[in-house]
Formats: sequence, C-alpha cells, structure tokens
Amino acid sequence: MSKVVVAKEILKANDALAAANLRLLDQAGVFCINLLGSPGSGKTTLLEKLTPYLKDRVRVGVIEGDLATSEDAERIEKAGLPSIQINTGGGCHLDSNMVANALESLDLNEFDLLFIENVGNLVCTAGHRLGERLRIVVLSAAEGDDKVVKYPPMFQKTDSVLINKADLLPYTDFSVERVHTDARRLNPKVEILQASARTGEGIEEAAEFILNKRQQWINGK
Ligand code: MG
Ligand code: ZN
Repeated sequence: MSKVVVAKEILKANDALAAANLRLLDQAGVFCINLLGSPGSGKTTLLEKLTPYLKDRVRVGVIEGDLATSEDAERIEKAGLPSIQINTGGGCHLDSNMVANALESLDLNEFDLLFIENVGNLVCTAGHRLGERLRIVVLSAAEGDDKVVKYPPMFQKTDSVLINKADLLPYTDFSVERVHTDARRLNPKVEILQASARTGEGIEEAAEFILNKRQQWINGK
C-alpha cells in the first residue's frame, strides 16, 4: 500500500518539474516533442530521415535517452543535428529531472524544435511527462497490431501515432485498420501517420505534420 503512495508522489513531483521545463521551453520559443515507442520501433532512424526535411526550415536539437550508450546521439550528430545524450544508468524511462539537467546544458535560444527520444519502452514512459508539447508514439509493423490494446496508457496519453516500417506490411499480419480502430476507441483525437523510415515513404508528410503542429502552437500563443 505505501508503495502505491510513494509512486504517486514521485509522479506528482515529476509533473511539477515537467511543467517548469515546459515554461522554460515556451519562454525560449522551443516546441518540444516526446518521441516514444518500443526498442527497435525505429525512433532514431525516423529522426535521421526527418532531418533533411526539417533542418533548413527550423533549428532542431535532439535529446537522446538511453540506458547506457551514446550510439543514438552519435547517429543524430552524423545526420546533422546537435544532440545531447542522457544515460539513465539502466533506468527504463526518462523523467523530467533528467530533461531539466539536459536543458540546462543547452542554449535554448538556439532552437525552434527539440526532440526528446525516450528510452524504448511502452509502459512507464507513458506516465512521465517531460515538458513536451507533442507526443508521437512510433509503432512498427513488425511489433504486431495488438500493442494498442495491450498498452492502453501509452496510446491514451499520446497526441499521435506513427506506424513505422510500412514497407514490411505486406509480409506481416499487421492490420493498420485495427490500429486505427483501437487507438481511436482509446483516444478519439489521436492522429495517425504511416511511414517507412527505411524507404523514406511518408517521411516528408511526417515532417509537414510536425512543422504544422509547431505552427499551430505559435499561432495559439
Ligand atoms: Mg534509438
Ligand atoms: Zn520506467
């Protein structure tokens, strides 16, 4: 019983600091995206492939969350974006305190758009707000179309879902229709995109989606 209370208190503290992160980002005019999804869903590859469509139009930075290595941050730097690595030391999600520390080491005035690639995980990442204005859950065709009903908080709390690895759809039993139906049942406002970061299909549309979301935010300020 006391464990439940502690978990609730920790989440409350996390939310308070996430709100502070959001204020900081808002003041600097930075639109922040929390990129979520399972290990291997293609989050880093998606960021690499989005880069050419974004980097000439907005100033983009990336915070990379991983348990141990800086491999993803190195890939992002190679793709042409500045990145900061957070190692969670084995922790299975990013929290707002880790992001607050990363934000301190960035000059936020140098950015218009900031991605946070979360640790690959469909469970506890959902409950931890970080200071984002938009959530994108990457769900790959290789993972199976049952993930929405099996991990409901992740899909309830997201703004959008990107079905990745669309090039594999002909080789799997993955039903795009089922994902649409299940996701909308949990979250009627969810927006669903489809792409293949490997082949590039749908990537330009995903970049436009992101830029439009940022523009809507600016217009609403
Ligand atoms: Mg990654
Ligand atoms: Zn966790």
